Amino acid sequence: MIKGSCHCGAVRYESAGKILRFVNCHCDDCRKISAAACSPVVAVTSKGFAVTQGEDRLVAYESSPGKFRNFCGNCGSHLFARVAAQPKLILIRAGTLDDDPGIKPQAHIWVSAKVAWHDICDDLPQYAEWLPQ
Ligand SMILES: [Zn+2]
Ligand SMILES: [Zn+2]
Repeated sequence: MIKGSCHCGAVRYESAGKILRFVNCHCDDCRKISAAACSPVVAVTSKGFAVTQGEDRLVAYESSPGKFRNFCGNCGSHLFARVAAQPKLILIRAGTLDDDPGIKPQAHIWVSAKVAWHDICDDLPQYAEWLPQ
């Protein structure tokens, strides 16, 4: 079980499901939305995932067709995303976790969109776009 919350504490969630992967995403959408060079994302199974507090405070933004990013309507923290075509998946923004997920990022994705002012300083695999299937 790992738990997370937004900055103001209005929204809390937990995930009891399996962690599928942990990647740093360098895509334009994640960069703009996280206001950071890249966004660490933990993918978990939707089974076992629950918003435990403040569901009514969540605001969903469709950042690309079928991808709904959920924010706290009060403080603006981007907590997680759902993809309509992949209902068994929840994409947690790792920065909102309150617990250690027990694993570290495994790869960099969307490195083709990486900004020039950010250097990747580790030896993790880098992929131009998505992880290879
Ligand atoms: Zn909040
Ligand atoms: Zn991304």
